[in-house]
Amino acid sequence: MQNTHMQHIAPEDFAATVLKWQQQHGRHDLPWQQPATPYRVLVSEIMLQQTQVVTVIPYFQRWMQAFPSISALANASEDEVMALWQGLGYYSRARNLQKAARYIELELGGEFPSELKQLEMIPGVGRYTAGAIRSFAYDSYGPIVDGNVRRLFCRLFAIEGQPTTAAVNKALWQQAERLTPELNNRRFAQGLLDLGATLCKPRNPECTRCPFNHACAAYTQNRVGELPTAKLKKTLPTKTGHFLWLPNEANVMLSKRPDTGIWASLWCLPEVSEAPAEATLVASFKHTFSHYKLIAKVWQPEADAAVWRELREANTHYQRAPINLQNIHEFGLPAPMLKLLNKLLQEDSNG
Ligand code: SF4
Repeated sequence: MQNTHMQHIAPEDFAATVLKWQQQHGRHDLPWQQPATPYRVLVSEIMLQQTQVVTVIPYFQRWMQAFPSISALANASEDEVMALWQGLGYYSRARNLQKAARYIELELGGEFPSELKQLEMIPGVGRYTAGAIRSFAYDSYGPIVDGNVRRLFCRLFAIEGQPTTAAVNKALWQQAERLTPELNNRRFAQGLLDLGATLCKPRNPECTRCPFNHACAAYTQNRVGELPTAKLKKTLPTKTGHFLWLPNEANVMLSKRPDTGIWASLWCLPEVSEAPAEATLVASFKHTFSHYKLIAKVWQPEADAAVWRELREANTHYQRAPINLQNIHEFGLPAPMLKLLNKLLQEDSNG
């Protein structure tokens, strides 16, 4: 599976090259770097899991203002937490962060752990995040493999095969463990991530500026375009969801979704299992989740009052929330719902 040509690069040489490059060309002004406390690193790493740095920065800053410490987050309400996450997507990350804060607060007496194994016991913290906290917050040995490192190592060492398979994963972690130094871990880890994000990019990597180009298997064998091996494309199934648009003066009925399933614990237009019998289709939109595509249809029933009554009686989760454009930010809403609500409220106030 692997090309041997960089197998024997001495870890000291590898680390020295990464550190030197990071010093000169890496990123030094990310908000979670100053100061890099374990809590700030945890929050930034969870936010960065599926999201780009530029998008994360303002979210990170707002979050730190609202929840400056583990205990502030542990004691916050779920609605406050979800509202601050609104628009970042993959909302289970927000719930996990709060679970993590409560775990550290209640189970560990507020003491943030520092060993890899203890870190991996925190809810939502896997091998990568544990390594990142060790490296960034404690400046200690903590191997990391994320999407950036994966791409970099697959190319450097010509690691082939579907990137999510156990064999590829094992090869990547072996390299990470072998090459991670015992000193200067904060800068080393940042250097690896920066190399992947700014030079060894998914498309058009900047190999001529790369400090490893002389030794990189992909570059020297002219295989940069074929590594890492492309993921097999899967076709996602499509589902239709029916939602109700029930405006009432300045209010529109929203419901808080259950704490599992799509958009868990977020506020949404009430969802019903099928389209109401007598109703007008006021809007529709598409949204892709990781495992299916949703076609959302939004209906305004003819008999608003009867539907309100029925919904209130049918399910105690359904709450009537006075929502308008002024206080919409107080609720955690999924981004496509928020966009749709803004549009419908706008149309409603115009006509
Ligand atoms: S030479 Fe190119 S492909 Fe190889 S590690 Fe550097 S940027 Fe990535």
